[in-house]
Amino acid sequence: MSSAPTASTAAVVTRFAPSPTGRLHVGNIRTALHNWLMAKKHDGRFLLRIDDTDAARSREEHVDAIRADLAWLGLHPDGEERQSARFAIYEEAFARLAEQGRVYRCYETAQELELKRKILLGRGLPPIYDRAALALTEADHAAKAAAGEKPHWRFKLDHDAPIEWIDGVRGPQHFDPRQMSDPVVRRADGSWLYMLPSAIDDVAMGITDVLRGEDHVSNTATQVQMFAALGANPTRFAHAALLTGAEGKLSKRLGSLGVEELRAEGIEPQALVALLARLGTADPVDPALDAAALAASFDLSRFGRAPARFDEAELARVNAAIVHALPFETVQDRLPEGMGAAAWEAIRPNLAQVGEAADWWQVITGPIEALDFDAETRAFLDQAATVAAQIDWNDGPWAALTGALKAATGRKGKALFLPLRQALTGMDHGPDMNTLLPLIDRDEAVRRLQR
Ligand code: GLU
Repeated sequence: MSSAPTASTAAVVTRFAPSPTGRLHVGNIRTALHNWLMAKKHDGRFLLRIDDTDAARSREEHVDAIRADLAWLGLHPDGEERQSARFAIYEEAFARLAEQGRVYRCYETAQELELKRKILLGRGLPPIYDRAALALTEADHAAKAAAGEKPHWRFKLDHDAPIEWIDGVRGPQHFDPRQMSDPVVRRADGSWLYMLPSAIDDVAMGITDVLRGEDHVSNTATQVQMFAALGANPTRFAHAALLTGAEGKLSKRLGSLGVEELRAEGIEPQALVALLARLGTADPVDPALDAAALAASFDLSRFGRAPARFDEAELARVNAAIVHALPFETVQDRLPEGMGAAAWEAIRPNLAQVGEAADWWQVITGPIEALDFDAETRAFLDQAATVAAQIDWNDGPWAALTGALKAATGRKGKALFLPLRQALTGMDHGPDMNTLLPLIDRDEAVRRLQR
C-alpha cells in the first residue's frame, strides 16, 4: 500500500516469536524469513523471541530445534529473548493496567460462556462477551475468593476508540471495538495468554514492525488497544495471506512440513528461502538471488491478499537450480570421501539434490554394471579400448578418443557416442563426457571398454 507507513526512518527491529510447543513448519518459517528480510533490508535487528509462557506445552527440545532450524536457514538472530524470564515485567505492567481498570476479573466457566454464546447466536446477535463481570462489587469478589473461586482476567477494550491501522499487506484496517469481546489475557491459574505479554514485549524491545500471518489480524485489533493502554504507539503491522498447498487448500502436510523433512528430501536452505521470500508476491522466484539480494528487494507492497500456494514441485525445481550453482566449498562436507572439485563441477548440472552426487561418484570410481552389446558394437568398443590405452589421458581424453575413433571407423553422432557412454558409465545419459571421462581412471576406462 502506498499509504502504509514505511520502515525507512527509524532503525527497524523485527522479531520472530514462536511458541516452542512443536517444530517450525513451512508457515512459520516463512514468517521468520519475512521478519529477517525486513530487518536486513533496513540494516535493522532481527530478534528471536521464545514465547514460552505456557510452561505445560513448551519444551526445551523445541527451543533447540527452532534455533537449529533458523541457523540452517541462515536466519541468524541479532538477539534472543525468552518470555519465561520476563514474568516480573508482565506482573508490573499488569498491575498498572489493573489500577487503570483496563483488566478486570471474571469468573464464568467455559460452559457458562458457551451458553451465553448460544443464547446470543440464537437471537441472531454476535456472540460478544456481555461484560457481566464488570458489575461485580468488591464484596462480590471477596465472596468469590472466600468460596475458593479464582478469577481469570479480561482486557477491557475502549469502546470509544475505533481501532485502525494501515496494514503493510492488507491496507487500511478498521475494527469496531463494540463488536469485539474483551479478550481473556490471564487464566485463573495466573498463567498468561499470548496477547498481552507479546504487546508488553513489543514495546519493551522496541519492535518497530510485526510481520505475521493473517490468522493474527483479530489479535492485532486488540493488541493495538493494548499498546495504547501501555502508553506506547503500536508497531507497524503486516499480515501475510496464509499458505496453502499446491492444490489451493490448507493441507495437513503443510501444517507439519518442516526443516527436518525438507532437509531429508535434499532441499537446500537457499531454495526454501528463495521460494518463501517470493511466495504470495507478484515477483518470480529467482534461484540466482542470494539472501542479501532477496532482502534488498523485499517489499511488502508486492504481497497480495490471495492465499499463497506452496508447491513442492516448484521447490524441487528451484532446488535443482540452486544445486547447479553451489560451489564445491559449500558442499564438500556432504560429498563422498575423495570426491574433489573437478568431479563436483562435472556432475553438478545433473543433480536435483546434492545427495545424488554419491551415485555419480560410484560411476566415476566404479565398479559399474557391465551392459550387453551386440557383436558389431563389441568390436567397436574393443577398438575404443585400444585407442584409450594410447591417448594422452591428461589432455582432453574424450575429444581425443572420439576423434580417433571417428577417423578410424567413420562412425559419427549417436552411433559414435552412445556405445562409448554406455560402456564407460553404464548409462544412456549423464554429465558431459568431456568433463566426466578425465575423472575416470584410464585403466578402469580401458577395462570398461574391453568387457
Ligand atoms: N507466539 C505467537 C505465535 O506463535 C506469536 C505471534 C506473534 O505475535 O507474532 O503465534
